[in-house]
Amino acid sequence: MQIAGAKQACPACGSADIVVCADRGRVPVFQNARYPDPATARDVARGHLILAVCRRCGFGFNATFDPHLAQYDAAYENDQTISPHFLRHVDAMAGQALAMVADRPDALVVEVGCGQGGFLRHLLAAPGGALGGAVGFDPSLRHPVDAGGLRLEARLFDAAAARSLATAPDLVILRHVIEHVDTPFELMAAIRATMDLAKPARILIETPCLEWILQHDAWHDVFYEHCSYFTAASLARLLRRAGFTKVAVTHVFGGQYLAASGEAGPAAEAADPGEGAAVAERAAIFGHSFEAFVARWRERLAERQPLGIWGAGAKGVTFAALIGAAVPVRGLIDIDPKKQGSYAAMSALPILSPAEAAGQGIRHVVVMNPNYASEIAAMVADLPSPMELTIMDAAP
Ligand SMILES: [Zn+2]
Repeated sequence: MQIAGAKQACPACGSADIVVCADRGRVPVFQNARYPDPATARDVARGHLILAVCRRCGFGFNATFDPHLAQYDAAYENDQTISPHFLRHVDAMAGQALAMVADRPDALVVEVGCGQGGFLRHLLAAPGGALGGAVGFDPSLRHPVDAGGLRLEARLFDAAAARSLATAPDLVILRHVIEHVDTPFELMAAIRATMDLAKPARILIETPCLEWILQHDAWHDVFYEHCSYFTAASLARLLRRAGFTKVAVTHVFGGQYLAASGEAGPAAEAADPGEGAAVAERAAIFGHSFEAFVARWRERLAERQPLGIWGAGAKGVTFAALIGAAVPVRGLIDIDPKKQGSYAAMSALPILSPAEAAGQGIRHVVVMNPNYASEIAAMVADLPSPMELTIMDAAP
């Protein structure tokens, strides 16, 4: 690769056999930040996004990611738990986590990147769950807690944080964390180093699936906050290399996410999955599809007016920025009251409640995540004026 400052080796397996698939130029660093007015939203910090894929292990990454730009603090908001569909997914993940410690009485669960602690609270409250305690670490934590078996600390998880635990953890959880880290091998090795083989801790990781993005031509799922993109095979390989055994990876949330589990064991230079080159080829085709993706959606939505985009998360904010001013959009619609009233990064579109969207005359809505289509259809049916839905899914 001949780009100044770009990574020259795969951050997951170390191979130098990497190919650039797309150069998206300068994109907003944060999609989930809340901006109080259009001018601030338009003037957001940007970073260079170059999607590269490793031909040895099939891992995708932003080769020009600058971790100093993406600093997470208490202003960061990424709460998806208002949607009933997402809550069902969280329930399923909690069930998997509890099953992983069912044979460990009074298990200690640690969550790295726990956000505001929602998942750990969910685990502690789950029927039939009998955890000994839950400890979460996250620099974006707003309200530290130490009560009722739950401890939440506003810090990164590191060796000192591991030493602060009363007992060795039985399970370490990372949900939607590893895709934000540009040194995933170092992170996993550091977490593995805190684990004692006398009582081998287990690990549960949830992260978006690169294969799903490539299969669905999902350019709205490629953004700066996510600097690491895993396939099932590249995630399994990373875990084995970092010293985990009994590794298993499943596809969850309609295929959009991967759930990987394992147990602390000896490090092994895992065999190559043998599909890295095929992933890189698909990613190259994806890379060439960017202009067509934008043109196709601009054409498709031009007639669907007045238009809104349902979902002010990373997908919706990215999509609004991609289709740009070429298609009039009145606003992003989101059921999260914490997002309503603010403005989306780059497009500077207002974030509206469904009722506000109806009041502003929005009659067509593009639904960013197909997983929420039926619950959005039910909400739209309750609005005083009809809205026609266009579901983002496979290539139109
Ligand atoms: Zn690799």
